Amino acid sequence: MAADLRDLPALGELLEAPEAQALLEAGGHQLAVLVLREALAAERAARQAGGVPWPAARRFAHAREALQELLAPPLRHVINATGVLLHTNLGRAPLMAEAASAVAASATRYSNLEYELERGRRGQRHALVARLLQLTTGAQGAAVVNNCAAAVLLTLAALARGKEVIVSRGQMVEIGDAFRMPDVMRLSGARLVEVGTTNRTRLEDYQQAITARTGAILKVHSSNFQVVGFTESVAVAALAGLAHEHGLPLVEDLGSGALLDTAPWGVRSEPRVQDSLKAGVDLVLCSGDKLIGGPQAGLILGSEALVARVIRHPLARAVRVDKMTLAALAVTLQAYLLGKAVERVPLWRMVAVPAAELRERAERWRAALAHLPAAVEVTPGQSTIGGGSLPGEVLNGFVLTVRPRQGSVAACAAKLRAGQPAVVVRIEENRLVLDPRTVLPDEDGAVVERLQEVLAGP
Ligand SMILES: *Cc1c(COP(=O)(O)O)cnc(C)c1O
Repeated sequence: MAADLRDLPALGELLEAPEAQALLEAGGHQLAVLVLREALAAERAARQAGGVPWPAARRFAHAREALQELLAPPLRHVINATGVLLHTNLGRAPLMAEAASAVAASATRYSNLEYELERGRRGQRHALVARLLQLTTGAQGAAVVNNCAAAVLLTLAALARGKEVIVSRGQMVEIGDAFRMPDVMRLSGARLVEVGTTNRTRLEDYQQAITARTGAILKVHSSNFQVVGFTESVAVAALAGLAHEHGLPLVEDLGSGALLDTAPWGVRSEPRVQDSLKAGVDLVLCSGDKLIGGPQAGLILGSEALVARVIRHPLARAVRVDKMTLAALAVTLQAYLLGKAVERVPLWRMVAVPAAELRERAERWRAALAHLPAAVEVTPGQSTIGGGSLPGEVLNGFVLTVRPRQGSVAACAAKLRAGQPAVVVRIEENRLVLDPRTVLPDEDGAVVERLQEVLAGP
């Protein structure tokens, strides 16, 4: 039997009720109407599915929640307790506070983004950070675009559209969320010529593929996976020699693009931008928000003449970087220039934090949870860099493990994600694992409060 909905109130009736006043004040007439309509629609659907009529308070609660959701900032604060430093789903590298202030300052006022103040005429937005990039990487030329994928697209479009680009079969990588770099590369209008096999590519393979149609040789850093066993790849310097013998540019998609070594912290190092350039790569492409620890950006670094060609290509306009990113990138690079990156760039602080400090923090969390119905321990644990960097490499430290005595581990993790701030954890061996390394030091109090709230139960 169809539900009898004749007693559903009219919208006008709801708007006149005293409870509507708060909605009207918070959202104005249009939004109040919208969320009350949604509440009525939800009640109608619930009753058609066999539910009972809603009390007025429930209708207004529904509308209030919908309004709050509409007017809340879309990005919610998430505490990253996963131990994955560059968690792409959680926004990759957190910015330095000074970089964030520079973003706000650049955003709320006019600036000399593309304006030469001395001469009073149009300038180049890339010029703002070009010198900082030169000094931190040794590149003669530098440009910044939206992200590394855009840097690859633009560079190949500018240097090799309608031509062939030689790339090793072992370097055709998928970077996450089913995006494949070869697809991005083909969109540039260049034709990819794959050489070698998945596990082995030799210099002769590249050599034999060079023809009059070749526009560039591309090396892609296999950042998010490792091929082990019977493998062979060509050193950058040898590849650069071959490219230059034939008058071709060698382009390297480095992905992460570290400026510092991770070796001092017991982690195999990512190839550094400056090393690739020294080895003869003509253009190095990398991300701003991976191991550099800055804002989302794509850096194009190397030969001045090639960078000039790249930034004049029409696509450069489609992938250009905004002023807020440039402001944040400049401050981040200045920390490197001062030799203070490890102290000041949040990502590098997380890499460098001593294990003893992690243990102390985890112990403090544990002490604050001792009275709750859960088995809570501090144990040695490992963090990973993530973001497609350094697969298989770990940073040793200490983690907090929690096995709740009430409710499942999955249910606890879900409650931690649902609260304010949300806390995202790992689950291992039927325990919650919280890694203090990726929890920013000023979030310790919130982690403890959220755990107390969730473990104490209803
Ligand atoms: C991460 C990565 C990219 C994409 O970088 P974005 O800045 O996310 O666009 C491209 N190539 C490689 C090798 C990568 O590791």
